[in-house]
Amino acid sequence: MRILIKGGHVVDPANKIDELRDVLIQDGRIVKVQKNIKEAVDEIINASGKHVFPGLVDVHTHLRQPGQEGKETIESGSRAAAKGGFTSVCCMPNTKPVIDERSLVQMIYAEAERVGLIKVFPFGAVTKNLEGKLLSEIGELKDAGVVALSDDGRPVYSSKVMRHALEYAKMFDLRISDHCQDLDLSEGAVMHEGVVSTELGLKGMPAASETVMVARDIELAEMTGGKLHIAHASCAGSIWQVREAKARGVDVTCEVCPHHFSLSHEAVRNYDPCTKMYPPLRTQEDIIAIKEGLADGTVDCIATDHAPHTQWEKEMEYNVAPCGIIGLETAFSLSLKELVHTKILTLSQLIDKMSSAPAKIFALPAGSLSEGVDADVALVDLESEWTVKEEEIHSKSKNTPFMGMTLPGVIEMTLCRGKIVYRK
Ligand SMILES: [Zn+2]
Repeated sequence: MRILIKGGHVVDPANKIDELRDVLIQDGRIVKVQKNIKEAVDEIINASGKHVFPGLVDVHTHLRQPGQEGKETIESGSRAAAKGGFTSVCCMPNTKPVIDERSLVQMIYAEAERVGLIKVFPFGAVTKNLEGKLLSEIGELKDAGVVALSDDGRPVYSSKVMRHALEYAKMFDLRISDHCQDLDLSEGAVMHEGVVSTELGLKGMPAASETVMVARDIELAEMTGGKLHIAHASCAGSIWQVREAKARGVDVTCEVCPHHFSLSHEAVRNYDPCTKMYPPLRTQEDIIAIKEGLADGTVDCIATDHAPHTQWEKEMEYNVAPCGIIGLETAFSLSLKELVHTKILTLSQLIDKMSSAPAKIFALPAGSLSEGVDADVALVDLESEWTVKEEEIHSKSKNTPFMGMTLPGVIEMTLCRGKIVYRK
């Protein structure tokens, strides 16, 4: 089977391509990316007027399976990902049961293969049952195919346990994706601590509830030589610390989420539980710092923290509703709007932060259109807009604060391993 994607503007940062090219695919792999390819093929995809990117890579997705299939499944999450232009997602281990043993890792790979849409790469838990006490069998998890470790949803609260986790993970060449939250400073809090929380009478968590853990774990990464990844950095202090740590050679990488640079804590004024997430929406100054971090390379990549919850859960009052929003289907458009249209990043830099850079951080076979690799491709119309509508969301859950919003950039088609897995 030979497919030719003809006449599109190819942006492939890994290969420094940013111009009109054709993409030839054979048997699921990229054969060549050149100007004016004239060869006999089985199917021609007309991409004129469109952009062609490597399939996007999300290193922070909650697929909720096993255990909470009412919120999302590997199948529904894969559909949502494909609609958002993603061909690879890393799923977080805070499922029920927690992904802390071999058989569960194998189950995720098997189910993703049965679904047959996109690639799913599981993260394994740092500690057994996310309890922060005993380390998981890290070697066994690595053997089963986890690509990183995380206790996401919770920090590894004991400094001693985190130290050992970084040491062991390093032996197995695994990076730890770190949910930074001081549970004492954030106790009972439902939003960012600041003027808005005071005015609304909601309990806030200070930015320091994040930054003290970022500081601790950078220190531990420096001491152990371990590989640390700061997940969903939300405030200026975290960005500053990562910048400093990188400058002195600590092996730390960092992701930010589209909601954290698209909305501030002002959005909470409507008491919509879809503005509730950990870490919370912060201030305008934090948004500026995140954007500066993206522009100067302190922030390596953009991840969604796609966190589906059912309608009835999010219809609870603000104080008791669960944290988190879906993000796979809006991530690209929000990033395009907030970062490229405002000239914070070039289009090529954005595609790097959403494909090649995250793939590189976690050593995933993804993120480029190099010859011979799997043909994971997104075809995008940058000139068109779309409106976020409940009935068009592919995720099982609909919890997004961007509902009803009109956003730029329409994913027209997504191919994974040369197979069309989404078509508008
Ligand atoms: Zn988290």
